[in-house]
Amino acid sequence: MLTWLDILKFTQSGNPEPDEKIVKSDSEWKGTLTEEQYFVTRKKGTERPFSSEMCHSFEAGKYACVCCKTPLFDGTQKFDSGTGWPSFTQPLKTNAVAYHKDHSHGMYRVEALCNTCDAHLGHVFQDGPKPGGLRYCMNAVSLEKIKATSPVYETVVFGGGCFWCTEAIFQNLKGVIKVVSGYSGGHIKNPTYKEVTSGLTGHAEVVEITYDPSYISFEDLVKIHLTSHDPTTLNRQGADAGTQYRSVIFFRNEKEKNIIQNIIQEIQPYFDDPVVTQLAQFEYFYKAEDYHQNYHELNKNKNPYCSVVIEPKLKKFRELYSEKMK
Ligand SMILES: [Zn+2]
Repeated sequence: MLTWLDILKFTQSGNPEPDEKIVKSDSEWKGTLTEEQYFVTRKKGTERPFSSEMCHSFEAGKYACVCCKTPLFDGTQKFDSGTGWPSFTQPLKTNAVAYHKDHSHGMYRVEALCNTCDAHLGHVFQDGPKPGGLRYCMNAVSLEKIKATSPVYETVVFGGGCFWCTEAIFQNLKGVIKVVSGYSGGHIKNPTYKEVTSGLTGHAEVVEITYDPSYISFEDLVKIHLTSHDPTTLNRQGADAGTQYRSVIFFRNEKEKNIIQNIIQEIQPYFDDPVVTQLAQFEYFYKAEDYHQNYHELNKNKNPYCSVVIEPKLKKFRELYSEKMK
């Protein structure tokens, strides 16, 4: 949580780096904004108090910069300041808003700007509600309410030995929408289970996890994966041996790759042996035969592998991640 002292520090020694920087010319901004939006955001204007409905609206949702659409505030941080300008007590993220000293009009104030595109938003004061005590006094025309849209799901593909086990682990997590067992990382198209178990296809038994990043992060999933199987045994999990049982994480971009590398570094000291998890660029995921899907759930009373291998794993996992379970 930011406090007035943090704000003063930002004005003295510089603002935090934004996730991205957007620079446009004056005429480009003029082309995308209304006259009033342009006047307030690009020319540091101020709207008349009580001129916007936004002051009185306290519905859930996020507010974005009207210029560059970067989310800046959340409705849960909005409060009724009585000033006639929409007021928030914290920004959405520490690096969402930039702060500059403003000595205009014979006053000492702190100007708040969009850290991504430098749009003037308003000012920040130290008379807001506790515990942060900040009041972001914003121009409503600088902001726009983000319309609630259907959630955007992401996918990630992990291998950690037999996919019956891996699938059972991830099915239990909050924010995980679905888990599909399959094959990835090899060199033949549409492999069968029989082909993969031969160890000659290069494919690993994997699960494709579809998740809602607003409930569970990519980082969390990687950490859970690396701590719910043994990432230190090369091409083997317990009694299951072969390259198809290798520990692997498929990344889709450099950002994901960096996150995985950092987590491996972070957890390495907890293992006696080196983490041998393979990091591979994601290419294709091939869904496994139907009888492999939801295997543990459907076969736990029939196949001894489930009770001997999967159940103890699940029990340990439930204890470790109880707060993240469904
Ligand atoms: Zn902006």
